[in-house]
Amino acid sequence: MVSEIGRFLGRKWKCERCGQEHFVPTKWTNISRNSLSSLPNLVNQDKGGQFAVVVSDEVTWKVAGEKVANSLKGAGWQVNEILLPLPLHATDEAAKKLLNLYPSNVSLAFAVGSGTINDLVKWVATQLKVPYIAIPTAASMNGYTSPISALLIQGFKRTQPCQPPEGVLTEPEIVASAPQEMTAAGYADLMSKTVADVDWQISNLLWGEHYCPLPRKLVAEADDWLQNRLTDLSRNEPEAVSGLLEALLLSGIGMTIAGSSTPSSGAEHLISHWLEMKAISEGKEPALHGLQVGIGTLVALTVYEMLLETEPSDWRPTENELLNPDERKTEFESRYGAIAERVLSEFSAKWLSRERANEARQRLKENWERIREIVTSTWVTPEVHRQRLTTIKAATHPKEIGASVDELYEAILHAREIRRRWTVLDTAYLVGLLPDQVDQILKRCGWA
Ligand SMILES: [Zn+2]
Repeated sequence: MVSEIGRFLGRKWKCERCGQEHFVPTKWTNISRNSLSSLPNLVNQDKGGQFAVVVSDEVTWKVAGEKVANSLKGAGWQVNEILLPLPLHATDEAAKKLLNLYPSNVSLAFAVGSGTINDLVKWVATQLKVPYIAIPTAASMNGYTSPISALLIQGFKRTQPCQPPEGVLTEPEIVASAPQEMTAAGYADLMSKTVADVDWQISNLLWGEHYCPLPRKLVAEADDWLQNRLTDLSRNEPEAVSGLLEALLLSGIGMTIAGSSTPSSGAEHLISHWLEMKAISEGKEPALHGLQVGIGTLVALTVYEMLLETEPSDWRPTENELLNPDERKTEFESRYGAIAERVLSEFSAKWLSRERANEARQRLKENWERIREIVTSTWVTPEVHRQRLTTIKAATHPKEIGASVDELYEAILHAREIRRRWTVLDTAYLVGLLPDQVDQILKRCGWA
């Protein structure tokens, strides 16, 4: 155990720093040997042995789904097994299909799998108000305990508020039997906070967005523990992988506390979502989410590094930035096709007129010392990040996630358009670092 996760669960508590009250609906987690056989005892307390649905895919059924179903049946539960075919994507279509597969009298669902299955079951659970238990089969992402589901809605990636699981249960041997690249992806997803938390703090300074330091504090202890076990993670050793899973669960709880994905999702996630949308629109299989995030984090940290080298007196945006989004309709249509209108609506929400951009630069200037301090005390340097990715065998070059350098070029320029959240990519445009320096960013990342 890397920390006492239990103290955060199933209760309301108040942040001393930001003063807000937070509630974490997930009541328990259990990552221990042979825990699947004690599953009925854990869920029986308030459910009384009723009708369960076990959702898995062809792979996760063999890894844990069958065991979950048998364990419940042995305790007198009625069990309906839903086996989803592969390849499986978290799309609105797949989510609606799953919803229609649920029997009408189901009282509890089990999501046996990793990212995609959890996003789908979490969404259905919220629509039907049927609680669910997450059974992670890999330490591959931090969404198990988060309050959102990330779905591609007709080709456009959206995160929607959803109910987190009632409980999380798995065994160290199960998560350590996942392919090592899933462990690498999980670690890279966890590391997104080195960017996301800075993005969030800067948005707080610039726009007064509510900021809470707790999500970061929550993961800090687990993070220290993991730093000494990167080689173990590269070998998928059960103790290290379950420690990583615990850190990922804490990261998800951090999002629940914040009420959104903000603590763990900044510029690096926009780059990941952008690449994923592009891959799926071209009929390609996207790389693992966390591996994309690892690449996105390298970009974002590099942009921060370059931002710190700028002088406020040199800041000015390019004229194109000042064009009203309405005047850029054709540009967005040619870039995004069918989803252009939805992207433009997100982008318009954070677009700044000449006057507001000047005010924002002024605020940035006034807070410049503070911002330097925030960046350097929160992030890691791009070099350290790259080193960590290498050690755990995660991707460090776009080609390892099936993307070309040209696609990264496009993602750096445009990923910020798909979501209204303020990130370092917007700050870079605000001061004129982008679009001019995109080649330099790629060069520093070692890709051009
Ligand atoms: Zn993520």
